[in-house]
Amino acid sequence: MGNLLITGGAGFIGANFAHHWAAHHPKSEMIILDCLSYAGNLASIDDLIKAEAVELVVGDIADLDLVAGLLRDRAIDRIVHFAAESHVDRSLHGPEAFIETNVVGTHQLLRAARMVWLDEGSGRDHRFHHISTDEVFGSLQMEAPSFTEQSPYAPNSPYSASKAAADHLVRAYHHSFGLKTSLSNCSNNYGPYQFPEKLIPLFLINALHGRPLPIYGDGANRRDWLHVDDHCTAIDTILHHGAAGSVYAVGGGCELSNLDLIDQLCTGLDAAFAARPALAEHYPDAPAAQGLPTASLKQFVPDRPGHDRRYAIDASLIAQDLGFRPQVDFKSGLAQTITWYLDHPHWWQAILDGRYRDWIDQHYKTL
Ligand code: NAD
Repeated sequence: MGNLLITGGAGFIGANFAHHWAAHHPKSEMIILDCLSYAGNLASIDDLIKAEAVELVVGDIADLDLVAGLLRDRAIDRIVHFAAESHVDRSLHGPEAFIETNVVGTHQLLRAARMVWLDEGSGRDHRFHHISTDEVFGSLQMEAPSFTEQSPYAPNSPYSASKAAADHLVRAYHHSFGLKTSLSNCSNNYGPYQFPEKLIPLFLINALHGRPLPIYGDGANRRDWLHVDDHCTAIDTILHHGAAGSVYAVGGGCELSNLDLIDQLCTGLDAAFAARPALAEHYPDAPAAQGLPTASLKQFVPDRPGHDRRYAIDASLIAQDLGFRPQVDFKSGLAQTITWYLDHPHWWQAILDGRYRDWIDQHYKTL
């Protein structure tokens, strides 16, 4: 396999994937293309940049000349496309950025790949792998069978609609032009480096500061959870062994109501405080520091518009075809994730106070 372009590699899953790739394929050249939106954080990949395990290119996926130039000059023959606007709540307040990046940006990437890999006849074998979400399938009834690769698309938020549009474009470039694509629709990821607007890091950090844990509606909405390490392995497996044109549903086989998840998170944090008395000194406002259960911070708030009731994934096709099965069980994965956030306060504190942008401003003043 030749050189790899990771779009969105300074984000949550992209950064985890870059670490995965550097550890498992140290001889492969890796280039990250990321525009460093609010969700891009160089602290998540600075070890890789310093070790020269990755080359960082700061730029927009919608910049056709930039992307085409990279594909030519760096002899890239694999793209793993993570770059996106990824937060559903933000898509309700401002859908435009979601259309620009997720739809137009993905299309520009596809255009560049087609131009260099097909039209200019580079002759290289190639692959364009698109990372998508189970949210494109819409809301499942409580008793309905889980989503599969055959589930009809029914997106309900501007975020999921923009991802659905991108999925269709990827499919169309394969069928119409012969671009070798693959696509995975994955459930909710959790693990290190997740931006603290997303449920698990947001609630952890709120709890450490004694702030409320806002639960949408009745908390009965259900989601499947997959550890990000397992997602990275699934993508690596599809890149190496999945056929061109293939689509896989990827999930953790771990469906939980939001309330169940939040209760497990609260109990996990209580256990961490019990095991590490020094935490009470660092976070005196946390209920656990005052002998109270973290769950005492739970607070029900009005539901968000269009909140899908349930997502669930039947991941049997990727297991049968490619032998991929998740390895991280949720209980230990969640405990590891809690430990990671407790051990890396500098990572999330720099986001909370805005310092994470300093590094970018110092090194990339043109942005
Ligand atoms: P994220 O928001 O943490 O990171 C997105 C990254 O993309 C950031 O580094 C950002 O700077 C970069 N980016 C945004 N717009 C860009 C542009 N125009 N050009 C270049 N870079 C740009 O997202 P994430 O949670 O890591 O998700 C990555 C991908 O996985 C997304 O496509 C998302 O839809 C998909 N996905 C996420 C989950 C999940 O649970 N997080 C689940 C399934 C699928």
